[in-house]
Amino acid sequence: TQSSNSHSPQPSAIRPAKIDWQMDDTGNKVPVSGEFGDVYFSHADGLAESRYVFLAHNQLAERLANLAPMQCFSIAELGLGTGLNLLATWQLWRALRDMHPHLATAKLHFITTEKFPIPLTDLTQILALWAQRAPELAELIEQFLAAYPPLIAGCHRLRFFDDNLTVDIWLGDAADSLTKLASGTHLTPAPAIDAWYLDGFAPSCNSTLWAENIFAQIQRLSSPSTTAATYSCAGIVKRALKDCGFEIKKVKGFGRKREMLTAIMPAPVSDETYEHTDNRAADHQAIDNGHSIVIGAGISGLMMAWTLANRGIQVTLLDKTAPLAGASGNPRALLAPKMTPIHHVDEHLHTIGYLYSSRLYRTLNDKATQQQLAPVLEPTGALDLLIKANIGTEQIADYPDEMATTLPHAQAQSISGLTAQDLTENLYLPQSGLVNPHALKDIILTHPLIRFQQINVYDISETAQTATIKGNDQDDSIVSLDADNVVICAAFESHKLDRRIFDCRKIRGQLSWFTPTAAELTNLPKVPLKYSGYCAPFTAHAGDNELNDVAEGAMHLLLGASFVRNDTSTDIRDEEHQISRDKLVTAIPEMAAVIPTDTTLWRGRAGIRTQTPDYHPMVGLLVDSKRLWTMSAMGAKGYALAPICAEALADMMLGSFAPLSAAMQARLSPNRTRLQTPLAD
Ligand code: SAM
Repeated sequence: TQSSNSHSPQPSAIRPAKIDWQMDDTGNKVPVSGEFGDVYFSHADGLAESRYVFLAHNQLAERLANLAPMQCFSIAELGLGTGLNLLATWQLWRALRDMHPHLATAKLHFITTEKFPIPLTDLTQILALWAQRAPELAELIEQFLAAYPPLIAGCHRLRFFDDNLTVDIWLGDAADSLTKLASGTHLTPAPAIDAWYLDGFAPSCNSTLWAENIFAQIQRLSSPSTTAATYSCAGIVKRALKDCGFEIKKVKGFGRKREMLTAIMPAPVSDETYEHTDNRAADHQAIDNGHSIVIGAGISGLMMAWTLANRGIQVTLLDKTAPLAGASGNPRALLAPKMTPIHHVDEHLHTIGYLYSSRLYRTLNDKATQQQLAPVLEPTGALDLLIKANIGTEQIADYPDEMATTLPHAQAQSISGLTAQDLTENLYLPQSGLVNPHALKDIILTHPLIRFQQINVYDISETAQTATIKGNDQDDSIVSLDADNVVICAAFESHKLDRRIFDCRKIRGQLSWFTPTAAELTNLPKVPLKYSGYCAPFTAHAGDNELNDVAEGAMHLLLGASFVRNDTSTDIRDEEHQISRDKLVTAIPEMAAVIPTDTTLWRGRAGIRTQTPDYHPMVGLLVDSKRLWTMSAMGAKGYALAPICAEALADMMLGSFAPLSAAMQARLSPNRTRLQTPLAD
């Protein structure tokens, strides 16, 4: 709907690029920007130019080959465009990792910005040409296209686990995006970019990527030995890089081009800054020595463990009971966005998290298939009846259709299976789906760097060198474990483990499900539906251990969920089954005749959700601590929020750039002022 809606979208809605096609020197079609009239890459040989200008002149092959184990190299690019620079870099990184075993745990972080992203259909066409011309890129192109985000402002993190590659695509104006780059870390100085690819259109076509506010950010984010390369030798570029403190050098340009620029940030003259640089290396080493303890094996703890393990860190995951025994262990969880007007979207944690989770779970589906496990995410789509939504159809139209759209009435009826309902207003969420928590847990726990232990922790302490937990194991013996870091992911019990963590609201939620008869089944909703509650049909798989007494392959209807404040018991209550039934029948009266009134045979599961007064989770380092962290208070949104929050926390811990803006990281801090006041209710 982005291009076709009638009301004008809000300023932060993304305007997709308009691609024109021209012929290059060899008769190949090449894309040209409709907005700026400039080429995305050289008409001579774009790939060779990319390798020459950006890879060779940032000395990438040498610098990447010399990374120490666990070290992370950060590249920032101005102008993702077709992704050709990214693909060339990725391919070099792969080749180097194949050649050098010591790079097994080294990491590459590619941060790129784009204000006018190319729509997926155009990009697919552009990259198909490259897959033909450069077969060595073909597999990477396939993975890149599969992970390409919807065109929504904000940071989209793409993780390519097998290659230790993280790609952050910041959609929006580059100056804004660079301003947001940070790692809410205790390491000083803050992380820096190692190499810049300055790849805006020619300054004469588009000056915004060569403006003062961009260079101010380049300066802020660079440190001694940071390099930059650009095909442009324009006077303003030379002057601006010099003013940032770079030493610049003109070298021979690619092909017929006379010259290009390379730049390096020299070591500072003052000893004081030298010390800073040394500190940075020392801090990195101390923390990268990698063993972390994660306390709590709900979705937060599991995602935290997985995210750290994927960075090469050994993780001991602890819980006083089994993994997923708490609120996140339901048979299925509905992954659906909480919509916001488009002009808030780039700073909307739920949207950023939802998009990341949905991408991650799809990637994990491939792993699940390999390991012959049930899928982590069943891509069902979901229909929101807009009964309790904070967004109207006009605002939905600002979103790209692949994330959110309004279906024509007849189509909404046929997708949902509802025949009597007025569905004129609806919100269809094509990328939503049902998460299978146990399938996700099974994949996470097979990671070779994650070890689960059943320990009831009663004490956590830290010294300058180490953090220590004490607890009782299953035989009630006292256990003491040391680690470099401890992350407390114990939801409403986090506060008991460390008093610095806010004592959150506790909300009981009961989920209900039943096995419909064959007759009922034909009239039940066909996709997950959202109203003041939600319902979802799902099929039981082998390994659905909450459903042991149910035949594999049987269909169920899930209804959620009750919401009882300040109640921490987890007994199953018939009256809460009824509440969930009532919500469904009130929203969809035709269900009154279909959903049984007798709920005595229904099954249920109750858990305690944890919520802060401002509804944001707590993610970060505890005050006055160097080694104790928390990631908790996900409310009922753990499956949407935990994956991106775990990425952010891991980046804070390791001093890398996080996928959340500096302002968002401050909003999530466990030490934010809003949490200094006592709980109202
Ligand atoms: N690196 C790209 C590749 O490998 O295909 C080519 C980049 S192209 C020369 C320049 C890119 O900068 C375009 O995709 C354009 O949309 C983007 N751009 C222009 N102005 C921008 C701005 N203010 N912020 C972010 N990106 C911008």
